[in-house]
Amino acid sequence: MDTRVIQLIMELRRQGIADTRVLAALERVPRDRFVADQFLKHAYDNIALPITQGQTISQPFVVAYMTEALRIGDRMKVLEIGTGSGYQTAVLAKLSRRVYTIERYRSLLQSAEKRLADLKITNITTKLGDGIKGWPEQAPFDRILVTAAADHRPDSLIEQLSPEGGIMVAPVSVSATEQDIIRYTRRGNDVEEERLIPVRFVPLLPGIAREAAG
Ligand code: SAH
Repeated sequence: MDTRVIQLIMELRRQGIADTRVLAALERVPRDRFVADQFLKHAYDNIALPITQGQTISQPFVVAYMTEALRIGDRMKVLEIGTGSGYQTAVLAKLSRRVYTIERYRSLLQSAEKRLADLKITNITTKLGDGIKGWPEQAPFDRILVTAAADHRPDSLIEQLSPEGGIMVAPVSVSATEQDIIRYTRRGNDVEEERLIPVRFVPLLPGIAREAAG
């Protein structure tokens, strides 16, 4: 195994990630396949990196932290908003039965689909669309992970959570410059909210993105 991977996993443990299933998933997903060539030498650094369309592949610590906070079981149906590079999608796919993932940039979605197919990760269903609306045809979901920052509680997604203990983890703005990871747990019409750690994500934007042709 690449020593950079081992170093990274050790660092995540030092940072408090304790769930061995989550650590094993990060160990098994080759992050170098999800970053652009010019950042290859930083693929296993514990930092976010730019991808195209002004978006980012999240920091490994944040991927591990949010995945751990989701408390995923291996029979669960998971919805991810913001496919981006597909890295977080691959980590979720290792831990669950099936992942549904939505991205608003067609070009990002197509590259992510190719990477995931090359890695032979097959328990993923993708969609070009506005993730704020969720995926009503596939609801309810046992777990929902949002990887772009909402400016308020995403109620449309909470509605698509299983009423029996469904959990959603999402970065939500608390001021103009600050976001916190919030964990929402749904029991019937009751929603418990836990504020976890401060983070910085790109914004959750409405609609499908318009892209220049080519
Ligand atoms: N999970 C990704 C993180 C990508 S950054 C990874 O590991 O690489 C967040 C992504 O959310 C961006 O690709 C952005 O285009 C996407 N996004 C933002 N708003 C969205 C929306 N309403 N619906 C779907 N995707 C959205």
